[in-house]
Amino acid sequence: MNQSFSAQRTQTLRRLTETDLDLLVIGGGITGSGIARDAAMRGLRTGLVDRHDFAFGTSSRSSRLLHGGLRYLEQGRVGLVREASLEKKILRDIAPHLGDPLGFVFPAYRKNGRPLWQLRIGVKLYDLLCNGRNFSPSRGFNEAETLALLPGLNRDGLLGAVRYFDALTNDARLTLDTLRSAARHDATLANYTRFTGATREAAGWRCQLEDQLTGAALTVRTRTLVNATGPWAEGLGLSAVKLRLSKGIHVVIDRRHLPVTDAVVLTEGKRILFVIPWGERLIVGTTDTDYEGPPENVAVEPADIAYVLRSLKGTFPALKLTESDIISTWAGLRPLIANPDGSPSDISRAHQIRCPQPAWWDVSGGKLTTYRLMAEQTVDQLARHIGRPTTPCRTADEPLLPEVETAFSGIQPPPFGQEALLHYMGKEWAVTLVDVMLRRSGWHYYHPDASAKAEQVADWMSQHAGWSQARRTAELAAYHEATGVRPLRTATG
Ligand SMILES: Cc1cc2nc3c(=O)[nH]c(=O)nc-3n(C[C@H](O)[C@H](O)[C@H](O)COP(=O)(O)OP(=O)(O)OC[C@H]3O[C@@H](n4cnc5c(N)ncnc54)[C@H](O)[C@@H]3O)c2cc1C
Repeated sequence: MNQSFSAQRTQTLRRLTETDLDLLVIGGGITGSGIARDAAMRGLRTGLVDRHDFAFGTSSRSSRLLHGGLRYLEQGRVGLVREASLEKKILRDIAPHLGDPLGFVFPAYRKNGRPLWQLRIGVKLYDLLCNGRNFSPSRGFNEAETLALLPGLNRDGLLGAVRYFDALTNDARLTLDTLRSAARHDATLANYTRFTGATREAAGWRCQLEDQLTGAALTVRTRTLVNATGPWAEGLGLSAVKLRLSKGIHVVIDRRHLPVTDAVVLTEGKRILFVIPWGERLIVGTTDTDYEGPPENVAVEPADIAYVLRSLKGTFPALKLTESDIISTWAGLRPLIANPDGSPSDISRAHQIRCPQPAWWDVSGGKLTTYRLMAEQTVDQLARHIGRPTTPCRTADEPLLPEVETAFSGIQPPPFGQEALLHYMGKEWAVTLVDVMLRRSGWHYYHPDASAKAEQVADWMSQHAGWSQARRTAELAAYHEATGVRPLRTATG
């Protein structure tokens, strides 16, 4: 480990163990990061730990949309849609570098059970739920206009289309920038630090942590604890959460295959998939299949890819796509709230904040788009419990980061180079090659020659972090294992 990084980390872990915290957040996905930011901004002494890297879980494996969830209108869940619609606009305001308004063209077919008139009403209502001011107003198209917008679209039974607006974000970057904001407000944040248990004390909790880089055991004292461990939430000793995990995968292909300017909504019966323009690429997904097993093991299976490609070709029949056209993929788990017997709950797409025992909160469900609101509601509750006056919540008004701090953050990856790498290593807690390639930069997902880029980054990291040849080899092996990408050449040493 490089001197300055190891000194920084030692200092962070010492600070965690030496401070009497008001709040320790377990889990550095978007949920935990939002809570840490809000709590720190209100003046609470805040710590956060993640057993893996920050954003390792669902928060780097989503569809990357800030959205109200048009499809939930179909189920009459107007309150849920309104809540998320207002939040998507707040996030775009506080983090414009991570919110790009995007049109979604939703074709209507005679056979798919969603009549065009119903879609036209739906998107108007969707606009109204953003206080009447969505990013841009929705509109309808007749058949000819739709075909002009989406050349190559399946015209069999086509009635027309509607277009509504949501925004594209970058989930991992949103999480990391939220954490950077929390750190600027004095929160103490440690990745690769696992929460292993806690015992009650008069003033709160005595927590046991394990440093995943050295194996060292640590003890931390805190008044309150928040379990924000997403798909892992059920497994945490004191948790009262009951989840149903649902897997969703995405594939990335080159945009030249389908040069659309708007996103496209694909329908498979009641199911919906998106084709999302992302710079020179397209993101296509997602699936929705029940998942059992350790969250760490979630993976893209050949059947998932076949399903996504089949849906895409169903809507654009002339498209000649094979698996070899896929640049990258990812698989994630939706931590949906379940009934106590494990069956899907009515509120499965909403969030839940529960305090099953004094000074312990389980915060689960919800989505990327509503993370700020979930955090506000959680911190309101725990600030009341702590009983010390705090400043009011300011997360809806204060920019996530000053503009000058966002040079290496955005929806698309930054230019490939050492400047970005040094920033990630020095200012964003990047420890491994995977941290840099997947979550900090996104280079892995974007570039067809990601494998060669990983070799180059491994060389740079060896130089800057003082890695041995054996460490470099191990880092590349871990990268290939995490991404399912075959090594470019056999690493030596
Ligand atoms: C396929 C898919 C598509 C989605 N698309 C969208 C979308 O477009 N828009 C949207 O708004 N939402 C979307 N979502 C939902 C959204 O991504 C999730 O709601 C959100 O990311 C959940 O974040 P989280 O912080 O709760 O969980 P996670 O991101 O999974 O974070 C939990 C963290 O807890 C850590 N952890 C676990 N155990 C411990 C421990 N013992 N000690 C310390 N740390 C621990 C893990 O390492 C992990 O980093 C999507 C979800 C999926 C699966």
